[in-house]
Amino acid sequence: MIDAINALLPQTQCERCGYSGCKPYAAALAADEANINQCPPGGVETIRALADLLRKPFEILNPEFGTHTLLQVAVIIEADCIGCTKCIDACPVDAIVGASKLMHTVISVECTGCELCVPPCPVDCIKIQPTEKKYSPALAKQRYEAKQHRLITRAAAKKAQANKQKMALMAMMKARNA
Ligand code: SF4
Ligand code: SF4
Ligand code: SF4
Repeated sequence: MIDAINALLPQTQCERCGYSGCKPYAAALAADEANINQCPPGGVETIRALADLLRKPFEILNPEFGTHTLLQVAVIIEADCIGCTKCIDACPVDAIVGASKLMHTVISVECTGCELCVPPCPVDCIKIQPTEKKYSPALAKQRYEAKQHRLITRAAAKKAQANKQKMALMAMMKARNA
């Protein structure tokens, strides 16, 4: 059921529904822990589709979660970019390229317009603009899932490394006290 619900969501991964992406919102809907009217990018169309799938009555978009927005895209004012990489970390679909201390650029066809890169930018050089080009929800879903997998793997490796260091330290102290 989670996958069936997720397939109806826009995949911007914008977190406006109050969850950390479309799939977590889909999981909450499947568990009957969220309402069907929490996705501003999806608007009326998505609410209708969710109501049909979940056999629930139609509800208007809850304004507490924002208003429906048309397609939009992020643009970096490259001359102002200081290459801090904070936007790369924030982008849920890996639509920004760049390296530390170097200029960053948004791959516009891959940008869902989620706006999550805007607040972390220390020099306010990311602007959100309307666009007529539609991003690919399938690609956005794939990129989101790949990034989540990468973050989980990285966190697990970090934890394993910390445990290894702790064990080595304990072994050293034990040997010293023997
Ligand atoms: S598009 Fe945004 S608001 Fe809609 S389900 Fe996905 S993350 Fe939530
Ligand atoms: S570039 Fe910015 S607006 Fe576009 S998908 Fe990434 S975080 Fe969202
Ligand atoms: S957060 Fe802003 S300054 Fe930092 S790399 Fe991204 S666009 Fe450049």
